Amino acid sequence: MSLLVKGGTVVGPTGTQVADVLVDGEKIVALFDPEYRQVVQADEVIDATGKYVIPGGIDAHTHMELPFGGTAASDTFETGTRAAAWGGTTTIIDFAVQRTGEVVQDGLAAWHAKADGNCHIDYAFHMILGGVDADALKAMDQLVVDEGITSFKLFMAYPGVFYSDDGQILRAMQTARENGAMIMMHAENGIAIDVLVQQALARGEMDPIYHGITRPAALETEATSRAIALAEVAKDCPLYIVHLSASGALEAVAAARDEGRNVFAETCPQYLYLTLEDQLGAPGFEGAKWVCSTPLRTKHEPHQRDLWKGLRSNDLAIVSTDHCPFCFKDQKDLGVGDFSKIPNGIGGVEHRVDLVYQGVVDGKISLERWVETISTTPARMFGLYPRKGVIQPGADGDLVVYDPNGTTRISAETHHMNMDYSAYEGFEIAGHVDTVISRGAVIVADGNYHGQKGHGKYLPRGLSSYLV
Ligand SMILES: [Zn+2]
Repeated sequence: MSLLVKGGTVVGPTGTQVADVLVDGEKIVALFDPEYRQVVQADEVIDATGKYVIPGGIDAHTHMELPFGGTAASDTFETGTRAAAWGGTTTIIDFAVQRTGEVVQDGLAAWHAKADGNCHIDYAFHMILGGVDADALKAMDQLVVDEGITSFKLFMAYPGVFYSDDGQILRAMQTARENGAMIMMHAENGIAIDVLVQQALARGEMDPIYHGITRPAALETEATSRAIALAEVAKDCPLYIVHLSASGALEAVAAARDEGRNVFAETCPQYLYLTLEDQLGAPGFEGAKWVCSTPLRTKHEPHQRDLWKGLRSNDLAIVSTDHCPFCFKDQKDLGVGDFSKIPNGIGGVEHRVDLVYQGVVDGKISLERWVETISTTPARMFGLYPRKGVIQPGADGDLVVYDPNGTTRISAETHHMNMDYSAYEGFEIAGHVDTVISRGAVIVADGNYHGQKGHGKYLPRGLSSYLV
């Protein structure tokens, strides 16, 4: 089965060209000048004239079916990967979880059991370490060598749940420095945050907005700086800050990068578009829809401006979603009358490609940078390149035909995520995902879905391309 995507403007991180793309079976086999089209035979042809052809999106931060806060994220691997596909994402990297007291390999096996046979698109795993001890450190080596898991997430937040102290973090970083893995960090000072939360509750401050007020930007900046210092002590262990939302944290990352350090960071669409006042501070309990950590930041400080600047300058390398959806009814409402009991998370896996494209339309990033931050860099950062993230012979046939003249209106009524609300309700994007191809199979076309669960395969990963 061969597939020709003809006449589109192929966009990559280094530029654009009008070209035809030939996919044979699951792989891209040629990229060529349309003048040579007549010498090519293909079973199926997609006309991309006037549209962009980009490598399939890679969302490097999702939490399908994550048990958290007394409930579980509402998207399964099946519903979440299907929604991702609708939005032009053809690979996710989800987080397998080791809970405190659990064997790392058991946590990983549980995640494989959830995902196996259920995914519509390809998937890989990072590993969350919730209990760094001698066994977990040994398991890190084993996962890198045998399981294709080359990144490990630690938490400076959530004492008693996922939290690691500085000694545990340092030991995991030293291990990663030896085996080449990346340490991913949830950088918020959870010990101090817990004090602020208890004080707020004691004062009767129960509304969702206090979730954000008790997680001040200074405590993200502090934790980010501390993580960078610990990574330096661990002989410049590769460090990746997840869901960065605060200007001060970005400054710390930028300073480390200016020194040539192996420090990287991502942000998420919610931090680029939504704010503490306008969403988290919505009247009544409405703001619970936007309870996530790190929290949405105040619009009275220039966080969003700085995040876009960080995306331009590459101090922010990637836009991921931190997709962790909870329904408003029966999930978010566990926290009615007590913001600290609201499940933490926002769903957005379906909208990342569009929301970052809006940044191109708004003149905040270039077309090339769009593709880089949503696809090419995630592939390179997490050891999937050149199988993913690029349109060239030998790469997987993961393609999106994107229509710059189309529009996308985001709404819970039309989205495909298993959520009863949308964090971006009513947003209009000046662009549209037309066609989505996953390993040579057309899974979205003409507003219809043609994919199937079980098509997605597990992707063992290599080490990051960015390390020398
Ligand atoms: Zn996360």
